[in-house]
Amino acid sequence: MQLLLVEDDPALASGLQRALQNEGFAVNHVASGQHAVSIVNTEAPDIVILDLGLPDIDGIEVLKQIRKIHASLPVLLLTARDTLDDKVAGLDSGADDYLAKPFDMPELLARLRVLERRLGTALSNEISIGKVSLSTDSHHVTSDGEEMELSKREYMLLKALMENAGKVQTRNALESKLYGWEDEIASNALEVHIHNLRKKFGADFIKTVRGVGYTVKKA
Ligand code: CA
Repeated sequence: MQLLLVEDDPALASGLQRALQNEGFAVNHVASGQHAVSIVNTEAPDIVILDLGLPDIDGIEVLKQIRKIHASLPVLLLTARDTLDDKVAGLDSGADDYLAKPFDMPELLARLRVLERRLGTALSNEISIGKVSLSTDSHHVTSDGEEMELSKREYMLLKALMENAGKVQTRNALESKLYGWEDEIASNALEVHIHNLRKKFGADFIKTVRGVGYTVKKA
């Protein structure tokens, strides 16, 4: 899940980025409205977290521009301006949700999960394919009912594959779900994670489609 974080407060942004990455999101961070609009244009994030008080363009204006590019991209607004007028203006301009600062991380995460579910990629909090079950709430993964230990990237990769079971995903598409653009990616990193997941869930669980990418079979 590729998340675009638009927040000009450096301390809040880096705290959020860390917390969201720990939750398994690939986070790209920008600090201006202009940059945010151009990223939505070029990178096609899955979800946007948008601060309303930005240094260049007002967040509401940024939201309107995002809506022109992508009518259904889930956008969660963050704001210090916790007044009813602002909330109404935000929702009227096409925001999907709204959170006033200061907020608690668990609440932000719960709201992001709602947006994720609306995206249809995570229709339920529990995805099961064959003997493998993955909970997007608790991040627990079981195989034949047995709890499995996964690294953060292994979990993200497994989730990306299981959410799109039956579809073949390219290396690039999978990498973009695992890494933000500031992350250094070793050229064989994805293959290493695939290899480790196969060791844990069986060689056949993840299929290689030669010249295209990877897939897991639908349940
Ligand atoms: Ca701000």
